[in-house]
Amino acid sequence: MSDTVTTADTVPVPASAKERTGCTLEQYDAMYRRSIEASDAFWTEQARRLDWFRAPTTIAEWSFDPVSIKWFADGTLNICHNAVDRHVNAGRGDTVALIFEPDDPDGAVRRLTYADLQRETIRMANTLRKMGVAKGDRVTIYMPMIPEGAIAMLACARIGAVHSVIFGGFSPDAIAGRIEDCASDWVVTADEGLRGSKTIPLKANVDAALEKAPAKAVLVIRHTGADVSMKDGRDHWYHELSEGVSEECPCEAMSAEDPLFILYTSGSTGKPKGLLHTTGGYAVWTETTFRYVFDYRPGEIYWCTADIGWVTGHSYIVYGPLQAGATALMFEGVPNWPDHDRFWAVCAKHKVNIFYTAPTAIRALMREGAGHVTKHDLSSLRLLGTVGEPINPEAWRWYHDTVGKGEVPVVDTWWQTETGGIMITTLPGAHPMKPGSAGRPFFGVCPEIVDADGEPIEGAGSGNLCITRSWPGQARTVYGDHERFVQTYFSTYAGKYFTGDGCRRDEDGYYWITGRVDDVINVSGHRMGTAEVESALVLHPKVAEAAVVGFPHDIKGQGIYCYVTLIAGEEPSDDLAEELRQQVRKEIGPIATPDHLHFTPALPKTRSGKIMRRILRKIAENDYSSLGDTSTLADPSLVDGLIEGRLNR
Ligand code: ATP
Ligand code: MG
Repeated sequence: MSDTVTTADTVPVPASAKERTGCTLEQYDAMYRRSIEASDAFWTEQARRLDWFRAPTTIAEWSFDPVSIKWFADGTLNICHNAVDRHVNAGRGDTVALIFEPDDPDGAVRRLTYADLQRETIRMANTLRKMGVAKGDRVTIYMPMIPEGAIAMLACARIGAVHSVIFGGFSPDAIAGRIEDCASDWVVTADEGLRGSKTIPLKANVDAALEKAPAKAVLVIRHTGADVSMKDGRDHWYHELSEGVSEECPCEAMSAEDPLFILYTSGSTGKPKGLLHTTGGYAVWTETTFRYVFDYRPGEIYWCTADIGWVTGHSYIVYGPLQAGATALMFEGVPNWPDHDRFWAVCAKHKVNIFYTAPTAIRALMREGAGHVTKHDLSSLRLLGTVGEPINPEAWRWYHDTVGKGEVPVVDTWWQTETGGIMITTLPGAHPMKPGSAGRPFFGVCPEIVDADGEPIEGAGSGNLCITRSWPGQARTVYGDHERFVQTYFSTYAGKYFTGDGCRRDEDGYYWITGRVDDVINVSGHRMGTAEVESALVLHPKVAEAAVVGFPHDIKGQGIYCYVTLIAGEEPSDDLAEELRQQVRKEIGPIATPDHLHFTPALPKTRSGKIMRRILRKIAENDYSSLGDTSTLADPSLVDGLIEGRLNR
């Protein structure tokens, strides 16, 4: 229940992190205050770490009513220059920029230095130009997790084209919809992708998509070497078309507010929106957040397990780390192939220092037992991060204790596609951690919790999470539909950006995301976040994962419906169901007692690994006619099994 959530123990800053960062809570507080009170001066200083062709003199110019957002507007720069050329120019060309770990553990590891990345990016940029791509054009990128995916993004940025990356797991229909939405004439793809030994027919999917939404040209990277069909005049092999292109390609001077990319949200709440990010503010935001949150030091190996098809991959595989001159690992495979220890095997193999993943992966690996972790030497790890969903305190503890051996900080980073980068997090070294809480606002971020009437709540309390001031990395619009942008984010509470998430702030000023506001349930007049009930269920040693939704209940208004998956080897039983009910009563209170416990071998998830509560809600409501768009589900076939399970109770 919002006001009585677990007073989870605070985990102090590990000595190693304190010593390393030399950063104190007082320093954070002072810097945070300055980022708000002297915002323009603060962001001018942060922006100075980047190269500008023309330094900005106007810093923040924004209004949330009417909605208009600009940062650094009279400055010009190029983010590819900052992510690549700047390092080469500064004599860091031999530093490794990307390490590629292939799907097959015995496959060839590739290492690209910043000089290699510059050469490859120029080659791709000139090939795109040869194909006809010009500044301002939208280029769809549908790629496996190979360096050429990042290179394609950087090449677009270099010539001022706007990329729209689509996750390689999406279907032809989803691709067609996105190509149409942003009128993209150009596609970059590969013959096939590889994930957990399975091949993904990327080129064939593009062919099917283009039947519905035609494009002028397709550039195909040879990856697996599979035989794919090539349409004359439209499709070009990269290795052929790139032959003989110039080795020179100066970076276009972009205005800070020129578009950089469009990215469609993961779709857990409905039709995906194409959020538009621009150049200058996004560049500064991703570099600054990466630098402070991950506290990166030269020579370290950083690994973010996201896919470049999601915003996490954009900001924290490509633009953040590369602008900071880091060495970033790109992994093509999946966490559970060839075995459930793949993540840890890769960490040990490459001596990864900083590891950033999602709660869904942590819960899945936790379910398989600690043995997969402990058999590897993970002593290189010094920082762990999580993003994407609320992390249950139980999973946080496992991550901290079993993976991090209780010795390294865990940063739980709350942010959204719309925010461009991390918004709420602890900073390693400065902040004690609270398992299940994202922590404190990053520099320049002003969160506000409002009640149902939109009145701000002071001090401790819970409600809906808004942000009251603009920050540099904020999305500027929904591509082609500014009205939808205004309606979705700025109309619920006039003059404020509404995140769509519920949140509690505790007496220490720590923020606890309680899930999406749509997911708050109201039982006999008591409002509770589904995340809290889920955390209570996951505390049980036999439970791997849980998803909780409300359903109409004659007496209580809403009842509590819990979908539960068990750890490997455990079987559902009536006794276990009763134990789980008791556990929730004990953790939260009798009001939160589950009405239905529905054991299922798996939960429906988006392709980014988020639980699709919208569908679970419909099933719990016994409403199967309007399940809505299921095309963004990773495994649509799961739905039938869930419906059957519902009908049996
Ligand atoms: P859509 O907007 O299409 O429904 P989505 O919200 O899942 O999709 P993203 O922008 O990738 O798309 O996800 C942002 C959301 O993920 C946040 O609004 C929040 O609900 C959740 N989230 C992300 N990080 C965290 C975190 N550290 N703790 C809690 N929730 C998080
Ligand atoms: Mg969202």
